[in-house]
Amino acid sequence: MNGTRQGRALVIGGGLAGITAALRLADAGLKVTLAEARPRLGGLAFSFQRGVLTVDNGQHVFLRCCTAYRGLLQRLGVRDEVMIQPRLDVPVRDVNTGREGSISRDPLPVPLHLGRGLLRYPHLSLAERAATGRAALALKRLDLADPALDRRSFADWLREHGQSARAVEALWDLVGVATLNATAEESSLALAAMVFKTGLLTDPGASDIGFAKVPLGRIHDDMARAALNRAGVRVLLRTRAAQITPGPDARHEVQLEGERLDGGAETLRDLDAVVLAVPQDAAHDLLPPGSLDEPEALLKIGYAPILNVHVVYDRPVLDGPFLAALGSPIQWVFDRTAHSGLRGPGQYLALSQSAVRTEIDEPVAVLRQRYLPALERLLPRAREAEVTEFFVTRERTATFAPTPGNGALRPGPATGTPGVHLAGAWTATGWPATMESAVRSGTAAARNVLRELR
Ligand SMILES: Cc1cc2nc3c(=O)[nH]c(=O)nc-3n(C[C@H](O)[C@H](O)[C@H](O)COP(=O)(O)OP(=O)(O)OC[C@H]3O[C@@H](n4cnc5c(N)ncnc54)[C@H](O)[C@@H]3O)c2cc1C
Repeated sequence: MNGTRQGRALVIGGGLAGITAALRLADAGLKVTLAEARPRLGGLAFSFQRGVLTVDNGQHVFLRCCTAYRGLLQRLGVRDEVMIQPRLDVPVRDVNTGREGSISRDPLPVPLHLGRGLLRYPHLSLAERAATGRAALALKRLDLADPALDRRSFADWLREHGQSARAVEALWDLVGVATLNATAEESSLALAAMVFKTGLLTDPGASDIGFAKVPLGRIHDDMARAALNRAGVRVLLRTRAAQITPGPDARHEVQLEGERLDGGAETLRDLDAVVLAVPQDAAHDLLPPGSLDEPEALLKIGYAPILNVHVVYDRPVLDGPFLAALGSPIQWVFDRTAHSGLRGPGQYLALSQSAVRTEIDEPVAVLRQRYLPALERLLPRAREAEVTEFFVTRERTATFAPTPGNGALRPGPATGTPGVHLAGAWTATGWPATMESAVRSGTAAARNVLRELR
């Protein structure tokens, strides 16, 4: 880029990674186009209309320690449209014992902030609570930069540190499955340690839970589009990048296809930067040859599914915004009534079911037979209530799989083709597949672009 010509960038993919990269590059003075294959922005975190209900494809939560995602919310001007708990408090009900306790914190320094909550946690024996405390302190001492952590399973490490099957179920997996989208058996120690250390053992408020008070589409689509427009980014929806052709002096050409383009296609030429903010298999297909030493590594990363079960009752059956379950096929249940536009006395619940590799393809009728009785066991008031709607949303490629060994497969933003950069929650951010990882990756890719252009 010389002093007179404005640098030109194309961001491919309008998920949170692409939105972030496009905003950063436009803020830095580049002329930016963002191409998104679908008719909306937001990627994996979106909403759709079903009758009167505005439905999120999946319940999304974040933690106070998700500073990059919170920064994006600020940039989009939607800080007031999310809420963060003043203090971590996760109610956990065991349907077999009927007991309810909570994972909570006190306003004390780390790790004392968790001490009282752990001591009172009724789903573990006294010995298990003490062993859990010791394991938490051992986790705190792990060096996240140690590559050996990526090769080991979290479950293996938990066993070595005296964690019973019950402690894994009632504490480590209760949190881990929801944040990593995998059980301890399926997770690398590196990603699990990252989640538990960052969330529970850094800052006392790090793990306070946040979520949107409005549908995800309002934030990730409407407000993101408005911010991109204000920043001067040309946003092309229903537009797919078909091919990247490297040009001389790292000025590339990208062929776009889409019904909204003149003649159904457009070629962008003389691009100083192309940011590929697409899922890993799409990145594999689009990267010019020679961009990565081992392009096939991208296909080995793999995916993990998330199922959401949506149930509308004719009356309220759940108190509080959410509840985690033990001894039940239900993992977490959220009250979606206010977000969805549901009117009248009913209540709309969404069950967030992570890492359900076998259930993800089961017919709705089978899921209904499983989850309605489970809801009646978990929430006694559901027994008298009438179900007015039942449907499911399935995301088979919700996250990358956090399997041991996958850390080594995640590339950073730079590629071997100057001018072509990678972003996406699956890239090497150190975080599991979260909104935070997506935003961090978009920032890292934009930084890489600007460093290269300078
Ligand atoms: C059901 C569910 C629940 C989740 N829960 C949570 C949660 O509670 N907390 C949390 O932090 N995270 C959660 N996640 C994960 C989070 O949504 C993702 O990690 C994040 O949104 C990924 O963003 P991204 O930009 O990296 O990728 P994506 O969102 O996958 O965006 C990539 C975009 O690229 C587009 N694209 C692909 N190919 C092309 C092409 N050739 N041309 C143009 N565009 C293309 C796609 O259409 C897509 O919009 C959840 C995900 C799901 C599915």
